[in-house]
Amino acid sequence: MEFIRRSIVNLRRYPRRFHYCGLGHNYCTKKSEAESEEWPRRVITGLQPTGALHVGNYFGALRRCVQLQDAGEDLMIFIADLHSLTTHHNPQALRDNSLELAALVLAAGVDPERSVVFTQSAVPRHAELCWLLACLATQARLAHLPQYKEKAAALKEVPLGLLLYPVLQAADVLVYGATHVAVGADQAQHLQVAAQLVRTFRHRYGCQPFPTPRALLPGDDGSDRLRSLRDPSKKMSKSDPDPKSRILLTDSDDVIALKIRKAVTDFTPQVTYDPERRPGVASLVALHCLAGGLSAEEAVEAAGGLTTAQYKRLVARALAAELAPLRARAESLRAKPRLVRHVLRAGAARARRRADHVYARVAAAVGLLPPAR
Ligand code: ATP
Ligand code: MG
Repeated sequence: MEFIRRSIVNLRRYPRRFHYCGLGHNYCTKKSEAESEEWPRRVITGLQPTGALHVGNYFGALRRCVQLQDAGEDLMIFIADLHSLTTHHNPQALRDNSLELAALVLAAGVDPERSVVFTQSAVPRHAELCWLLACLATQARLAHLPQYKEKAAALKEVPLGLLLYPVLQAADVLVYGATHVAVGADQAQHLQVAAQLVRTFRHRYGCQPFPTPRALLPGDDGSDRLRSLRDPSKKMSKSDPDPKSRILLTDSDDVIALKIRKAVTDFTPQVTYDPERRPGVASLVALHCLAGGLSAEEAVEAAGGLTTAQYKRLVARALAAELAPLRARAESLRAKPRLVRHVLRAGAARARRRADHVYARVAAAVGLLPPAR
């Protein structure tokens, strides 16, 4: 009910023209780029069930989504299980990780009454739209993306899914007519692919059935790209082979303390905030700020007189305090897998209705006959 109420509020708030292809007709009209931004605001984000979530995923995406939800945004959050098939995976681990991820999303404060929580594979329109968009994308453009180049370089045989990854990502967003995508900085280039596909669609078919999505990056608090604790030149990642490179949301206080103690810094004992010259120490300061709600100056001031080794204990305590309540909520949700599955089922039903709506316009614009009833 709350969702319906807010949709109506949103429509009132953005009462401007919709410009989409008439369903079953060919009366698409070209609209300018500026006009294409006049859509009801909708935020979406996806998290891959490739392993336990780390604090980069949390501060960079999940916690921000909860803040957006609490500010009244129309939020959709999905478990990107189809994306996780692009790398080698174990089917049982995928099932377990998907449920675990759903429990963490709920434990972090995503409210299924207000936001739509679901698994990507439960809405087949993602894959269907992906195919339509794949027919507009070029191999050259996709093969040029840094994340593809990096991942493909490590493989002898490169799965086609890895190349198509950003196209599926574009479909994830466009299929709901989402206007904003809450992501970390690593996803900004993939969003440019989505924007390019919207332009190509408009040129090819003379209409635009979805808005051009924009990245909703975090502010300048460092949460857009938290660094690996073992190699500050890299981002913190679930798929990093070194488990000490990341702090998991499920790590105990002791494990958090150990990982922070082992974090790579430098040979200067004082704590300063200089991401360019002292990326390791700056990473600790960023974690401290995010966990304790401090500015960089306040964190450095709190570290006054401490060596980096002593400061690490302070940072570990701040992180443990921030994560402990989430960990406890996740623990109790893990004991209720049926509840979690129910939330995902109900979320998928809502998501399917939204996706069908947009997909019907896209299919009509492309010239696909409506399915026989
Ligand atoms: P993988 O290594 O399997 O790609 P990942 O750690 O990159 O895992 P994803 O599931 O791909 O996690 O990303 C989920 C969300 O978290 C995305 O919005 C992504 O931009 C964000 N994110 C990932 N890593 C970081 C990070 N180090 N700092 C901030 N945000 C991040
Ligand atoms: Mg990733």
